[in-house]
Amino acid sequence: MKIVVMKFGGTSVESPSAISRTAEIVEGRRARGMAPVVVVSAMAKVTDQLLAAAAAAERGDKTGALAISSRLRNRHLDAVSALLSGAAAGTVHAWMEEQFQALDDLLRGLAAVQELTPRTTDLVASYGERLSSRMIGEYYAQCGLNGAYVDARTCILTDSQHGKAVPLEDKIEQQLGQTVMPLLQQGRIPVLGGFIGATESGVTTTLGRGGSDYTGALVGRGLNAHAIEIWTDVNGIMTTDPRVCPDALRVKTISFEEAAELAYFGAKVLHPATILPAVQKNIPVWVLNSKDPANHGTQITAMAAHSRSPFKSIAIKRKLTIIDVVASRMLMTHGYLRAIFEVFDRHKSAVDMVSTSEVSVSLTVDSNERLPAIAADLSQIADVKYEGRKALVCLVGENIRGQNGIAAQVFSAIRHVNVRMISQGASEINMSFMIEEEDVEEAVRALHEHFFRDPDPDVFDVTEREGLSNAIATAQEN
Ligand code: ADP
Ligand code: ASP
Ligand code: MG
Repeated sequence: MKIVVMKFGGTSVESPSAISRTAEIVEGRRARGMAPVVVVSAMAKVTDQLLAAAAAAERGDKTGALAISSRLRNRHLDAVSALLSGAAAGTVHAWMEEQFQALDDLLRGLAAVQELTPRTTDLVASYGERLSSRMIGEYYAQCGLNGAYVDARTCILTDSQHGKAVPLEDKIEQQLGQTVMPLLQQGRIPVLGGFIGATESGVTTTLGRGGSDYTGALVGRGLNAHAIEIWTDVNGIMTTDPRVCPDALRVKTISFEEAAELAYFGAKVLHPATILPAVQKNIPVWVLNSKDPANHGTQITAMAAHSRSPFKSIAIKRKLTIIDVVASRMLMTHGYLRAIFEVFDRHKSAVDMVSTSEVSVSLTVDSNERLPAIAADLSQIADVKYEGRKALVCLVGENIRGQNGIAAQVFSAIRHVNVRMISQGASEINMSFMIEEEDVEEAVRALHEHFFRDPDPDVFDVTEREGLSNAIATAQEN
């Protein structure tokens, strides 16, 4: 059995028409003799709205929280009415009413105590995928796809780090074998919600924002899938975020290592943890466009295609803070860096970039609510300053290994921009630097113009750009 895990993101399931498009895509895979397992996100923006409702409740704004929930309820009930008919419509409507009753009770409770724990945040956030997966599972059953809804929390077992739970891979494999495999053997198409999981004692958890990609990869790993497909709203991994550079090109193939680096350094198209489960079993990952399923997308494989261009893509990570730690009194003592990193470890904060000199260390972290506590702990060992609104730009490509003069090209393309920190990772496939957030779009456009002016057609899809320039030329002639 050639299992293919197909993950559809929020925009791919944003409306009844988008959901019926996913059914056609899944049917296409089945028609090719594959056995699809579908992982869906919440409908577009639903997770943001659920978190906004939880935040309103925490402030004591019960009316505001319930108003958000009521809008979500209407949106989901309308979608069920458009997608389902007969007894199934009635059953799913009734089930959704129950879900929203429970959500409203929860929000009322939160508003009464004005307290929101990570555990409860996960519970509120989980509704998005719980609702979308049941609705889509029932729709796939009704539209002739033989869909079978599976509550992902029965399979995706995790530890209890709420908000960023760590999957228990062996347990997941076992559960998938017991729950999903038999459905596949009966020729059914299992539909699971991404992002959500549960501890072994049944407490709901989530894998972190954007985590449905990760679920897709975990399911692929657990079932030994033939391929993992991440269906989204762009043509694949592009040379940079197309929202920043509308002339970004599709990258046809990219290595696991390059894709992981891009995802980690901010390319939202993939969740950073997605690649590892696929690498472990050497399962190819595809990034594809649900609005243009005929497009070939991007293939992520073990080996990178050789390219004339030094870089494959430019990632942007915003909302970062630089922390400068200066410790003249620690001069020449050992254990200094360890003491600093222990602080970040204690606060479970990942550091993106580090630069050091004899007495000073600069580090960058995601701006988060733990910063004041981190700074307070660091000030026990050194003088500390921190400054937010920074962005990291990361250029990724296998071809920069050992190439001379690349850094000079990068920094001359952005010579008008004030660069705060620079790093070339040990992986030798990325070059990153930190700038003010307000400069980031201009810098990325300048770099994109410089490095992708003459793209290698073996690696990048240049046809769209050619199409555009032909259209411009024709318009000018006429
Ligand atoms: P989904 O809801 O399908 O998971 P996301 O919004 O999480 O989709 O990710 C897709 C978005 O990622 C795109 O719309 C695009 O704006 C953004 N993006 C950022 N960097 C890149 C890149 N290098 N290639 C493609 N998309 C990117
Ligand atoms: N719905 C979740 C989020 O918005 C997970 C995902 O879409 O990947 O973060
Ligand atoms: Mg995503």
